[in-house]
Amino acid sequence: MNINKFIRILLNLKGLSVTGFQFRIRDRELDLWVKPYKNGCLCSHCKRRGRIIRTMDTPRAWRDLPVCGWSIFLWYCPREILCPTHSRVQEDIPWADAYARITYRFEYAMLVYCQLMTQKAAARILHIPKSTLSDLLHRTITRIRDGHRIRGLKSVGIDEISYCRRHKYATVVYDLDRSCVVWVGRGKGRETIDIFFNEVLSDYQKSKIKWACCDMSESYIGAIEDHCPNATLVLDRFHIAKALNEAVDEVRKEQWREASLDERKALKGLRWLLFKHSSKRSKKDSRILNALSKGNRRIYRAWVLKDEFEQFWDYKAPWAADRFIKRWMSTALRSRLEPIRKFVKTIRKHINRILPFIGSRLTNAVAEGLNRIIGIIKNRASGFRTLQAFTDMIFLTVGDLDIPAQIPVKFRAI
Ligand SMILES: [Zn+2]
Repeated sequence: MNINKFIRILLNLKGLSVTGFQFRIRDRELDLWVKPYKNGCLCSHCKRRGRIIRTMDTPRAWRDLPVCGWSIFLWYCPREILCPTHSRVQEDIPWADAYARITYRFEYAMLVYCQLMTQKAAARILHIPKSTLSDLLHRTITRIRDGHRIRGLKSVGIDEISYCRRHKYATVVYDLDRSCVVWVGRGKGRETIDIFFNEVLSDYQKSKIKWACCDMSESYIGAIEDHCPNATLVLDRFHIAKALNEAVDEVRKEQWREASLDERKALKGLRWLLFKHSSKRSKKDSRILNALSKGNRRIYRAWVLKDEFEQFWDYKAPWAADRFIKRWMSTALRSRLEPIRKFVKTIRKHINRILPFIGSRLTNAVAEGLNRIIGIIKNRASGFRTLQAFTDMIFLTVGDLDIPAQIPVKFRAI
């Protein structure tokens, strides 16, 4: 067997033939001189054969997967050809994308490794510096996502995330039906979300949105109501529960400040107990909480109100839920607990956006789940300095497009 053929088979190279090779022992590098299968000269758009106009003067190099400690480079001088349909074009390079500096299978390995591990670890396996990897990753993801359109968006969720060690915020838009991220934008204000609705979605797509879910932020609510004429907005149940928990905690903090040293002993460790959902409470927890009825009336009253409010989410009939929440609100208003009254005022303002939950059971739970994965990505990288790098990783792991699957099948062997 010819040694060039042997190398091609050994390295499992597809769509090309090896014409020569050279080891650079000191750098642990192997240079392979290659040419496209059957002499190439195919148009990269229509794959038809064209006449050669010019051969590039300098050879180009493509980095391929490392093997047994050797970094491998493919070398070739691409030619310009004349396609009957596309006129002057660079010939098709079967092992890599038109302007990429790495082969398809290197791209595939890079994408899959980065889904699984830190970029630092992936860079080490692939024998490249981490900064180079981030750069290559960005180029590859941008190229693959280029021209990708959001499709069939019916239920949209909007939430904010922090990056750069909690200093900066980004807005994330989710497709709640397919549980994936469709868009990421810098900032968390109205102008950010307006970019999504104005520049990313067409009017037709906006009219197709049936359900929308977000927290109680005015900018998100305003944007959804302005841009999506047919959408029913449901405020996210978890954000409402969180707001109520915060109100209860506010009452606890007030009492703590006013309490004497002795009284404080009784209030210790109460915080998480007050937050607990009734279904997760142990008998001991209930005993401590019920003891509050004698210990601290105000905290006890806040907790009872919070506990009662949980029932709202279990209602099946909208009219019954409506009656319940109205009663609950008037009881809560009479409680003389200022943080709770403030909470009541907020939900009264949004009542028409909370009640649709009963019929739809729509929540941002999907988004919360995805946020958890995003949090893992963030921690793994110990924070991202640029939103760009963070967005790349979000799209790679929980995006609406399966990015590694866009690499041609025959190059997907690692
Ligand atoms: Zn062509």
